[in-house]
Amino acid sequence: MIRWLCKTCNLRWIHPVEVCINCNSKTERQFSTKYTVAGFTEITVPSTLHPKVPYTVLLLKDEHGNLMPKKTMKRFTDADIGSDFLFEKGDVAVIKVKYDYYAAILNALLLLQDFDIHSYKNKRILIHAELLDEKKDTLEKKSQLEMANAIKQAFAESIVDVDRKLADKTEYALIIDVPFMRVNHQTLSGKNSTLTIANAILAPNKDEPTHLNMIITGNSFNDVKSVFEVITAGKGEFKGKVAGDELEANIRV
Ligand SMILES: [Zn+2]
Repeated sequence: MIRWLCKTCNLRWIHPVEVCINCNSKTERQFSTKYTVAGFTEITVPSTLHPKVPYTVLLLKDEHGNLMPKKTMKRFTDADIGSDFLFEKGDVAVIKVKYDYYAAILNALLLLQDFDIHSYKNKRILIHAELLDEKKDTLEKKSQLEMANAIKQAFAESIVDVDRKLADKTEYALIIDVPFMRVNHQTLSGKNSTLTIANAILAPNKDEPTHLNMIITGNSFNDVKSVFEVITAGKGEFKGKVAGDELEANIRV
């Protein structure tokens, strides 16, 4: 969880705020890693975006005292209040893009099994984004631009190159593909990476607004693709473990 914090005024925001609205000083990002269950509500009435019931909305508290809601399909009892809450890691992590790509990508990477962002400190990594020199301003190109900028921030301790081609793969400790996934559209790139960070949207019909903007990340491109297909089209199955936002209840029927 990230909060944007003004240390002078002790004001906090859950969305990106660069400059404090009270004193004009630059905000800092506050990260949390430890959570306890502060409360919960069980929901038994289905709604359009949450057709599967019952589900639980937890109120989590982090080590700074910040509160956040978290949907889960698990059930809780009063005895769970005050206990530690662990975000489980998975072979694939799915995170909704709420405010910015940076927060979503960072959260997704932290939930990925067998992946440690800090192990790439001072190493060369490559973001493979083949659409960046497209002439037309497409949704796909816009996504790749945002993704590349956010990944650069997330890997601030690494030496990051962004390229359209994969000329010499040998000099990189990590190659990240950033495919754009949309139902019924061909998925771009993703086959040469050692890490896939996909931007996936749920907007099944042409000209329909985006219902859901997600980051899906995994060490295997095929795993990422399978999870996307299960989430959006209910097609196929994924036998591995999925971490992150509880999207199973958002599957379209
Ligand atoms: Zn302030």
